[in-house]
Amino acid sequence: MPKLARIALLGFSVECNRFAPVTVERDFAGRTLFRGAALLAEARAAAPRMLAELPGFVADMDAAGPWTPVPLTLAMTAPGGPVDHAFFQGLMEEWEAGLAVPLDAVYCVLHGAALTTEDDDPEGTMLTMVRRVVGPRVKIVASYDLHGNISDADVTTIDGFVAYRTNPHMDMRRTGVESAQLLRRLLSGTPSHLARTRLPIVPPTVTMLTGADAPNRPYGELIDLGQKRMHEAPYTGRILNVSMMGGFAFADTQYNGLTAVVTATDAEAAQALAQELAEAGWARRARFHPQLTSLEEATRLAVATADPGRPALAFADVADNPGGGGGGNTMFILEAFLAAGVRDGLVGIIHDPALAAEAHDLGVGARFTARFNRAVASGFARTLQAPAVVRSLHPGPIRCRRGIFAGGTVDLGASAALDLGGLSVVVISQREQCADPAFFEAFGLDVAAARVVVVKSRGHFRGGFDEYFGHDQVIEVDAPGLSSPMLQNFAWANLPRPVIPLDLEVDWP
Ligand SMILES: [Zn+2]
Repeated sequence: MPKLARIALLGFSVECNRFAPVTVERDFAGRTLFRGAALLAEARAAAPRMLAELPGFVADMDAAGPWTPVPLTLAMTAPGGPVDHAFFQGLMEEWEAGLAVPLDAVYCVLHGAALTTEDDDPEGTMLTMVRRVVGPRVKIVASYDLHGNISDADVTTIDGFVAYRTNPHMDMRRTGVESAQLLRRLLSGTPSHLARTRLPIVPPTVTMLTGADAPNRPYGELIDLGQKRMHEAPYTGRILNVSMMGGFAFADTQYNGLTAVVTATDAEAAQALAQELAEAGWARRARFHPQLTSLEEATRLAVATADPGRPALAFADVADNPGGGGGGNTMFILEAFLAAGVRDGLVGIIHDPALAAEAHDLGVGARFTARFNRAVASGFARTLQAPAVVRSLHPGPIRCRRGIFAGGTVDLGASAALDLGGLSVVVISQREQCADPAFFEAFGLDVAAARVVVVKSRGHFRGGFDEYFGHDQVIEVDAPGLSSPMLQNFAWANLPRPVIPLDLEVDWP
């Protein structure tokens, strides 16, 4: 490895739901948009305002000895609609200018399921540019969310591919650390070859859990298999990374489909293991069908928690998950639970800046009529009115303690907890999924004392609320929304067809 290796750091990370409103520059600026020295300083901060890949990468490089970071621009934000293409074009110009210096390597922090308003594969566009600018000899490692949809350019342009292996994503930092370790091996002369195999399976979000005790985990089994096989004959010593990409259905691209990506020291091993894992995925194809609980049944279960002999329950609003591009503002579960008189419940986190601002104007203790979605009522986000008391207020930045955001800071904007009869509802100004108990605790709400907790999250809440709710206490609710796992609810334009689970007759030659 070269002394003081010069390594460019850059990234573009957002998961795009084709059916959600356009994501614009201020969505990135409100979360993670850092350039140059400020990017490196934030990556080394105690509670960095970014997901943990780059902090993990930088920490591992720092620990391994002297190097020369060349920090460029990292743009990262919560899932939303396709990104404004003009903003992405501006980033492309910044990256291209920054890469035009002597370099030994490049580390790209990517998601893999980004869209722009004009480009269905911005990661591929970006990596193609990076390779063109730095030339064939500079090593490029890219890391991905396992929800990434993988194009040819995502694989053929780079020297090492590293994706998350856990869902909920508890291994973002490990992904950055592994990327640093892989990059150092490549810089020391280890050769690499990449292969990928894609299946006509678009796994609904709720079928992609990986935890050993998760219910129905065909995807988790594939990840485990890849990690096991890479250490066995005939692959021993030849495999540098195995990544199983589940993809993100709602991006609705031609690149969707469960994909095995293998980085190996020789092309034959890479291709053979990718093929073996694809065959293992195909053998599990019947298990990629979601099983949700109807809203009527969920309401009955919530009411029944009034019996102290029954366990408390968590209700996941999987169809309105801001972590999948949902608005975080549908009222279906809240309305049903209010009407049924559910008690001792927490509901959050609901994105409604107008209501949060009104609560701040009124102050703690004020009684008023809470009017949800007055400003944005449309589509799935219908209005709801209910008598409310302002219970507590918060300026927004939350130090996260458990789950995917643990150790970081997430800014929810001006926020409030409202008491609506038996339900306490957290209302926020900056859209985010409810993945950390801190999003209730910061308002003085006690998750342990609640009988019912409703979370706007598809699955990442399991990594934060696991100390209160085992998998058997989680109810995935079938309500309408932009991130519904019931894929037949959407008008797909670009998914490869036929595909599982949408079509009956699907072949994989
Ligand atoms: Zn993900």
